[in-house]
Amino acid sequence: MKVETVLVLSRHDGHELSESSREMLTAARNVADRVVSATFGEPPVAELARYGADEILAVDPATVEAAGADPNHPAVWSALAVAAAKQVNPRAVFLASSYLGKEIAAQTAVTLDSGVITDADSVTVDNNQLSITKAVFSGSWATSGEIIRGIPVVALRPTAVEAVATDRTEATVTPLTIEVPERAGRTRLVSRTVRENTGPNLTESQVVVVGGRGLDGDFGPARELAELLGGAVGATRVACDEGWIDRSAQIGQTGETIAPKLYIGLGVSGAVHHTSGMLASETIVAISDDAEAPIFEIADFGVVGDLDNVLPQAIAELKKAGL
Ligand SMILES: Cc1cc2nc3c(=O)[nH]c(=O)nc-3n(C[C@H](O)[C@H](O)[C@H](O)COP(=O)(O)OP(=O)(O)OC[C@H]3O[C@@H](n4cnc5c(N)ncnc54)[C@H](O)[C@@H]3O)c2cc1C
Repeated sequence: MKVETVLVLSRHDGHELSESSREMLTAARNVADRVVSATFGEPPVAELARYGADEILAVDPATVEAAGADPNHPAVWSALAVAAAKQVNPRAVFLASSYLGKEIAAQTAVTLDSGVITDADSVTVDNNQLSITKAVFSGSWATSGEIIRGIPVVALRPTAVEAVATDRTEATVTPLTIEVPERAGRTRLVSRTVRENTGPNLTESQVVVVGGRGLDGDFGPARELAELLGGAVGATRVACDEGWIDRSAQIGQTGETIAPKLYIGLGVSGAVHHTSGMLASETIVAISDDAEAPIFEIADFGVVGDLDNVLPQAIAELKKAGL
C-alpha cells in the first residue's frame, strides 16, 4: 500500500535533472500514488515524468532575483518547499541529503513545525506510515523510525536509492509563486566559480577510488583506475592535508559521505574518521602493504602489497579485460 502524495524538491541545469533528483523521484514513486515535483526555472518535463513526477510546480527564478535573493539560497529552496507543501498537502517532503539539502530540510521542517530525518537510507510504507531507515554511529547500527509531527521532511542520502526510469513522458506543469523570506536577502552572492568537472560526481558515483597516504603524492594511478571503471576519485584527509588533491575529495567524518557500489582504497589504513564516511559502500576493496591495517576488517576483498607492484598489474588486467 502507498501513501497519497509525496512532494520532491528537484534540481536541474535547464536540460537534465541531477542524479540525486532522479533518485528522490524514484523513492517517492515507490511509496506514493502521486508525486509532485517542485523546482526553479523551466523544468525538464519529460525527464521529471520519466522518473515519477505526476505534477510539477515551477517557480520563475527571476521573481526571486527581483526580490533581491539568490535562487540557490537554502532559505529560498525552503520557501519553495513550504509553498509547495501548503499547495499540495503531501504526506512527506523528499529531498537529497547533500550539504545544501540538509540545510533546506532543517529550515523547511522548522517552518512547517514538522519532524525531519537527514541522511536517510530508505523509506517504506508500513501500515500507512512512512518508515525511514538510517545508519548511525559511523554506520555500525541501522535504525528505523517514523516522523510523527507535521509533514515529515526526509532527506535521503545520494546513491541510497537507485534511480529507475519509467516510460512516462508527460506531467502537468503549474507555475508557483513563493514568498522570499527576508533572511534570504541577508547574504549576497558576490561571485561564483564553477569547479572544473574532472569526472563523475563523488557523492553520486557508483564507483569511487580513494587515495591515501600510501599513494605518496601521486594520484595519477588512482585517476587512471577510476577512469577505467567510470568512477570518481576520493581521498583521505591526509592526502588532502598534503595538498595532493583538492579538499572537496575528502571522504570521512569531516568530509563527504559516500555509499557507492564499489569502493577501492589505495594505501588507506581505515581510520574510523575515514570509514565513517564510506562504511555503507556495497563492496569494499583495499590495497595496503600493512596486513594489520584496520581497513582489512571491513574489506570484502583485500590485497596486502605495495601499490607500486599491485596497481599497475590491476590496471593492466582491467585493460586486458576490455575495460
Ligand atoms: C577530528 C578528526 C577528523 C578527521 N576526519 C577525517 C576525515 O574526514 N577523513 C579522513 O580520511 N581522515 C580524517 N581524519 C584523519 C584520520 O584519523 C586518519 O589520520 C586518516 O584517515 C589516515 O589517512 P590514510 O589512511 O591516508 O593514512 P595512514 O593512516 O597513514 O595510512 C596509510 C596506509 O597506506 C599504507 N601504505 C603506505 N605506503 C604504501 C604503499 N607503497 N603501498 C601500499 N600501501 C601503503 C600504510 O601501510 C597504511 O595502511 C580525522 C582525524 C580527526 C582527529
